[in-house]
Amino acid sequence: MERVQIKKGLENKYFKGQAHIEYGDLSDDVFLKNGQLISLESHYGEYIATAMLTMESKAQGWILSKDKEDVIDKNFITDKIELAIDNRAPLFNEVGTDVFRLFNEIGDGLGGLMIDYYANHLFVTYNTQALHEYHDAITQTLIVQLQPNSITEQTRFVEDGKLVVENASVYGKVTFPIVVEESGVKYSVHLNDGPMTRFFIDQRETRKKLSRMNKPGGQMLNLFAYSGTFSVAAAKSGMMTTSVDLAKRTIELIEDNFKLNEIDSDRHNVHVMDTFEYLNYAQRKELKYDIILIDPPSFARNKNKVFKVDRDYGKLIAQSVPLLKKNGELILSQNSETFTLNQFKAQIDNTLKKLGYHYTLIDVKGLPKDFKVSSGYKNGKYLKVVTITING
Ligand code: SAH
Repeated sequence: MERVQIKKGLENKYFKGQAHIEYGDLSDDVFLKNGQLISLESHYGEYIATAMLTMESKAQGWILSKDKEDVIDKNFITDKIELAIDNRAPLFNEVGTDVFRLFNEIGDGLGGLMIDYYANHLFVTYNTQALHEYHDAITQTLIVQLQPNSITEQTRFVEDGKLVVENASVYGKVTFPIVVEESGVKYSVHLNDGPMTRFFIDQRETRKKLSRMNKPGGQMLNLFAYSGTFSVAAAKSGMMTTSVDLAKRTIELIEDNFKLNEIDSDRHNVHVMDTFEYLNYAQRKELKYDIILIDPPSFARNKNKVFKVDRDYGKLIAQSVPLLKKNGELILSQNSETFTLNQFKAQIDNTLKKLGYHYTLIDVKGLPKDFKVSSGYKNGKYLKVVTITING
């Protein structure tokens, strides 16, 4: 195995347990290849860890082991997967929920690999060719351990500087969409239709909160609604919902989810529209809401306008607050890895203070437990959902 040194002065964080190799930290990386295993050393040749180079945008590689004697082979990889499955045992037995994350990248010991469980159909995401080399062993392990109905694979590889996303069915027979259940609510899922599956598993806590609000007759506004999973959860609390999304297919996706739950979608509006345009329209019409939920993507382009979540979140808040009813709640979701909870809270605070509002923080939620996070990679805790209410 090639021995590679960390630049002098940068080794401390690795000795302390940092799990990802940052670009620029290796003393000489000219000849290193994607997928290569390296023995990471200090400038003085002291062993630090064994790592795999994965060349993702967020990391050049990941620490696999801190034990020099560990052999990194396909058994090492599949053992990690078996352990992750064992860890999720309580979720397999949960009544009313059959959708969760089985393997969460470095949190489960292998950066670049995610495995999701959708009602006995598996969705495996490879963020790097490095781990895809082990694809046969991984698929076989999943078949033996779980006897799934099907396995669909998504590869997300950077080729010539561009992210290329492809889905492929690798095992079993299935006709999508399939139906999954979470806390007794049903959702339609498609694992072989582009980068998104119609269901973001990581928002389980937010949907749970919405479905338990018990607000019959309340009005909920769902911005960047996509397949409307938040709208359906809110409808379960008795609320009437308005979902806004730029994409035309939203109408059909949301309709499907309401139908599955036998909710009459006549009481629920969908607007195919830019969020900012809708906020202006709602203000002109003096529409008011009990709950406004904002869950934007990190980046989006609409005609010649670019939306960047870190930069533009304040604008979304500023335009939403005037639409809140008295005692209404703003549920603010932010999922960029490099923007911390403290930064997000500061952004919310600055925006509201500048506008002269006083507010109360109601709660902060994040990833559910199956999205295991490594203490060596805190950025893995990307999801932040902050609920506030405006005073007075
Ligand atoms: N909140 C959703 C996930 C949102 S995915 C959920 O939990 O299921 C991001 C969505 O934002 C996409 O459906 C995309 O079409 C939409 N989008 C991107 N830019 C937008 C804009 N300017 N106005 C409205 N919707 C937008």
